[in-house]
Amino acid sequence: KYPVLFSPIKIGTMEVRNRYVVPPMATGLARADGSPTEGHVAYWAARAKGGYGLLIVEAAAIDPLGKGSPWDEPGIWDDKFIPAWKKVTEEVHKYGAKIAIQLHHAGRQTTHDKIGGQPVAPSPIPCPVEREMPRELTTEEVYDLIEKFGDAARRARDAGFDAVEVHGAHGYLIAQFMSPYSNKRVDEFGGDFMGRMKFPVEIVKNIRRKVGNGYPIIFRLSGDERVPGGRDINDSRLVARVMEEAGVDAIHVSAGVYASTQYIIAPAAVPPGFNVYASEQIKKVVNIPVIAVGRINDPLLAEDILESGKADSVALGRESLADPELPNKVAAGLTEEISPCIGCMQACAGYLFDSTKSNISCLVNPFTGREGELKVEKAEKSKNVMVVGGGPGGLEAAWVAAKRGHKVTLYEKENVLGGQYRIGAIPPTKQDILKAIRYYITMGKKYGVEYKMGVEVTDDLIMKENPDVVILATGGVPLVPNIKGIDNPKFAKAVDILEGKKEAGTNVLIVGGGMVGVETADFLGEHYHNVTIVEMLPEIAKDEQAAVKFFLMERLNKYGVKAITNATVREFLDDGVVYEKGGKEEKLTGFDTIVLAMGAKAYNPLEEKIKGKVSEVYVIGDAIEPRKTLEAIEEAARVAVKI
Ligand code: SF4
Repeated sequence: KYPVLFSPIKIGTMEVRNRYVVPPMATGLARADGSPTEGHVAYWAARAKGGYGLLIVEAAAIDPLGKGSPWDEPGIWDDKFIPAWKKVTEEVHKYGAKIAIQLHHAGRQTTHDKIGGQPVAPSPIPCPVEREMPRELTTEEVYDLIEKFGDAARRARDAGFDAVEVHGAHGYLIAQFMSPYSNKRVDEFGGDFMGRMKFPVEIVKNIRRKVGNGYPIIFRLSGDERVPGGRDINDSRLVARVMEEAGVDAIHVSAGVYASTQYIIAPAAVPPGFNVYASEQIKKVVNIPVIAVGRINDPLLAEDILESGKADSVALGRESLADPELPNKVAAGLTEEISPCIGCMQACAGYLFDSTKSNISCLVNPFTGREGELKVEKAEKSKNVMVVGGGPGGLEAAWVAAKRGHKVTLYEKENVLGGQYRIGAIPPTKQDILKAIRYYITMGKKYGVEYKMGVEVTDDLIMKENPDVVILATGGVPLVPNIKGIDNPKFAKAVDILEGKKEAGTNVLIVGGGMVGVETADFLGEHYHNVTIVEMLPEIAKDEQAAVKFFLMERLNKYGVKAITNATVREFLDDGVVYEKGGKEEKLTGFDTIVLAMGAKAYNPLEEKIKGKVSEVYVIGDAIEPRKTLEAIEEAARVAVKI
C-alpha cells in the first residue's frame, strides 16, 4: 500500500533501504564532556530495529565553542569521541539501517555559560533570542573552522557513520554566514550572495577532500527562516543550487531560526506537512535527493508527499519519538497500532529545557529516551491485575501490564474511556489526543485487557474480585475553593462546558487562567463567544510549552479574549465577580455565564479501604495529587513494568 515509502534510495554511494528518515533531534543523552552514551546506543538501536532507513544523529559540535544547547550536546571535535560513536553505529548497522551524524556549530545562537567563552559569529550582531553580543570571527578563524568541519567529517567516517549532515539550518553558524540578516562582512565570506555562500561551499569541499569521493554529504537548510529579514524559499532555491554544485549528495529542508523556534519544533497548531511546499520548491532546482521534514506524522501523508514528487525521503521527527517502530508497523499493516505524536511538546522539547530532567522522552510513549532502562519484559508470574480508572494512566498501565503476560481488567465508571484526557482533546488543536486514547485502547485489546465500563468500583467489588494487584488511577476532580457565592447553580465547571453538559452564553467569564481555563477560552473563542479570563498569577497559560503557547496566544488575541491577571477573586456575583488587584477591589459584571477553572484535587477514595487487604496496591496520576498527563503516563509505565 505504500510503494514509494518502502522503496530503496541512493544518497551518494549510500543505499538506504526505504524512505523513512529519523531527523537529527537533540536527545540530552550525551555526557557533560560531549561523549555519547549507552543511552544513545539503545535509543538509536530501537529506531533502527523499528524499520527506519536512515537515522541522523543529533547536532554534534565540531568545536567546543560551537556547542549551543542548555543540555549536554554531543561532540565530534576530537578523536577521543570515535570509539563511543563506533558503539552507536555498530549497533545500528546490526538492524540494517544507515546512520549519519549532523555536524554543528551554533555561532551566535548560544551563550557564554554554555561554552565558557564569548560566542562567535560572522558579524557582531546578537541572536534576538539569546541576546548576547558575539565576537566577529577573523578571516583566519573562518578558514580554521572550515578545517574543523572537515576533520569532524573524517572522524564521523572513521566512527562508522555512513554519511554526514552539515547543519546549515535553524540559524546556526553556517546559516548566519548565508543570511544577509546576520552577515555584514566585507572579506571573501560576505558582501554578496556568493560571498555569503563561500563558508558552506568551502566546508563541503574540505569535507570532500578529507572523506573522499562518494562518501555522502547531506546539507540541511531552512527553506524559510520565517523571520522578518530572514531567508525565504526563493533565496533557499539558490542556496540549494550552489550546494549541489559544491558537491553535496542530498538536501534536507527544514524551517526556522531561534526567533521562530515554533517552526523548528512545531506543535499541534502547525498543520501536518506544513513545510513540504519548501522541499517541493527545492526539488525543482536540484537533481539530488531532497528530504522533507516538519510535522510529517502519518504514513499516508508521507506516501503522498513522495508519490506526488514533493520530496524523495521523509523525516519523521517527533513521530519517531512517539513510535520507534512505525515503519515496521506500517509494513505489517498495523497502522492502528502506531503510537501517535500529539504535538504537545511536553516530554521532547519540554524535558530538554527542564533542568530537572536529564533527557528527552515522549508523553505518549514514556519508553522513549529510556530504552536501556525501562523495558517491557515478560512477567515472571502472571498476576490478576485490576486497574481502576480509564484515563491515560490507567490505560497505559493496563496495556503494558497485559503485554507482560498479566491478566488485566480495567474498570471505568463512565461509559467511555479516556477520562479527563478525552475532555482535554476537545479544545482547538488538541484533537490528536483522541488518537492517543485510541492507541492505548487498541494495544490493550491486542494484549487481552478486559474493559468494564460504567462500573463504579467499591472496596467490596475489589474484595470480591480478589486481584493480586490493584492500580488506582482514579484521577482528580475540579477544585471548588471556599469563596463567597461560588455555589451558584448557574455556574459551570470548565469540563462541563467542554463536554457539552452546560451551554455558555454570549459573554463568558472564566475564573482561572491555567491550562484548563485558557483552553476553554480558546474553545469558546473559536465558537464566537466573548471571553474574559480572571487569573491570580501574573500570566495566563503559565504551564503551556513555549511553542504551544505561541499559537494559543495568537488565537486568543484573534478572538479578542481579555485577561485580567494578578487578580484574586474575593466574591462571586450572579453575573460576575469582585476581585482584588494591587490592593484595590474591582467589580466585573455583565456576564451570561461564569466558568470555574480553578484547578483540581486528587480523587482517591479506595486506597485507605483496601490497604493491607490486597498484596500489591499502587496509586498513580492525579489520584496522588493533580499533575500533568505526562507524569501520570510515566508513572503508569513504571508500575506496569515492575509488577
Ligand atoms: Fe510528540 Fe508530545 Fe511525544 Fe513530543 S512529547 S514526541 S510532541 S507526543
